[in-house]
Amino acid sequence: MSYIEEVRAAVAARNAGQPEFMQAVDEVLNTIRPVVESDDVYKRNAVLERITEPDRQIMFRVPWTDDNGNMRVNRGYRIQFNNAIGPYKGGLRLHPSVNLSIIKFLGFEQIFKNSLTGLPIGGGKGGSDFDPKGKSEREIRDFCHSFMTELSRHIGADTDVPAGDIGVGGREIGYMYGQYKRIKNLYEGVLTGKGLTYGGSLARTEATGYGLVYITENMLAAANDGIKGKTVAISGSGNVAIYAAQKVQTLGGKVVTMSDSNGWIYDPNGIDLAVVKDIKEVKRGRIKEYADRVKSAEYHDSGKVWQVKCDVALPCATQNELDENDAHTLVKNKVKAVGEGANMPSTTEAINVFQAANVLFMPAKAANAGGVAVSALEMSQNSQRLAWTFDEVDGKLKGIMKGIFDKTAEAAKLYSKPADYVSGANIAGFLKVAQAMIAQGV
Ligand code: NDP
Repeated sequence: MSYIEEVRAAVAARNAGQPEFMQAVDEVLNTIRPVVESDDVYKRNAVLERITEPDRQIMFRVPWTDDNGNMRVNRGYRIQFNNAIGPYKGGLRLHPSVNLSIIKFLGFEQIFKNSLTGLPIGGGKGGSDFDPKGKSEREIRDFCHSFMTELSRHIGADTDVPAGDIGVGGREIGYMYGQYKRIKNLYEGVLTGKGLTYGGSLARTEATGYGLVYITENMLAAANDGIKGKTVAISGSGNVAIYAAQKVQTLGGKVVTMSDSNGWIYDPNGIDLAVVKDIKEVKRGRIKEYADRVKSAEYHDSGKVWQVKCDVALPCATQNELDENDAHTLVKNKVKAVGEGANMPSTTEAINVFQAANVLFMPAKAANAGGVAVSALEMSQNSQRLAWTFDEVDGKLKGIMKGIFDKTAEAAKLYSKPADYVSGANIAGFLKVAQAMIAQGV
């Protein structure tokens, strides 16, 4: 058995019942093979055994009270996966589907993503199976305070710096930051995605979506093409989806779909983002309302956005939302490029379909790294006690995404084949972390 197969079997045995985590590990192990098998330094230093085992897995009880005065209990998680190149960094997800497997897959992916940004940040992730949907403002605040009461023991500006993810936006970060400050008596950059009046960075809200479109544009440019004039299908209608749509429109593309967990909209005239923002960011409503307000739009409560003909597909909702059948439909409809805004939104089989059909495909680790990159810039501004302008941050984001594209493309060319960005991103991300781990000997 080769070193990679040995490690794969041991990780599978030790993490039984964690399919999302194994999916993420398998993808990385399969693609870094040319590097790992070219030099026994990785085996001698047990790099793969170490990189697949989190430094620390924290699980805790989160008690809170609902509006009827009843005590409720959820489970909280923080996985501190790897800090070889910097403090643990990664978001917090609040969603009923959250479990150890999902948080570990996200934390594992984060190691390579953060490495690709070129910034000094390690990999971590956290969250809870708390469902924020339908909860009152007071219930959300009580939950966030209770969650942070425990989490505060484990994090710090130079230790572990969480951020937002599904179900965690500016409001939740605000409540968590307030509680951290109260417990620790420290005004430090321990969370990112903070409000602009208390240490947040301009362009953080936009960063993941904008970054996704910048790197998709880089990928298209390398094939002598661009977003301008393209029809774009986007899934999701949260933070990543909204700002990806905004940047596509700025660059002259037409976004025709968006979705939430209840259904999806198709607007052949191009999505009116002001309406989406009002529904999602102001009223916290459902995407269905869009079709009530915009006459050219259709609403569907079954099927997926991927059945709509498009040139570019940007999945921006959640893991495994685009499967093999969806990929076949997109290919049949002549999709040119796919950029992953969400984490691991395409199944392994879907990625195989895209690659076999020579569709340009940018995996999440590279494609959505703009969010964490600007989070790292927020940490820099907090340490400097400075606030940079929107254009300064956006300019740096653009440069970082170009850097990620170049590194990914180069590694693809060197170790796999040109435009195999899945291998490229995994290899480029892995090399830096592996070198640091070997150098540190732990
Ligand atoms: P939000 O909570 O703002 O939005 C998530 C969107 O996806 C909503 O429209 C939501 O619909 C939909 N969604 C979530 N879960 C499901 C599900 N199980 N089935 C169908 N639809 C679902 O989250 P973000 O936009 O922040 O995150 C989206 C993705 O991007 C996630 O994979 C996240 O990990 C990733 N990401 C986010 C970053 C960030 O900076 N925010 C950075 C890097 C990656 P509904 O409202 O109905 O739940």
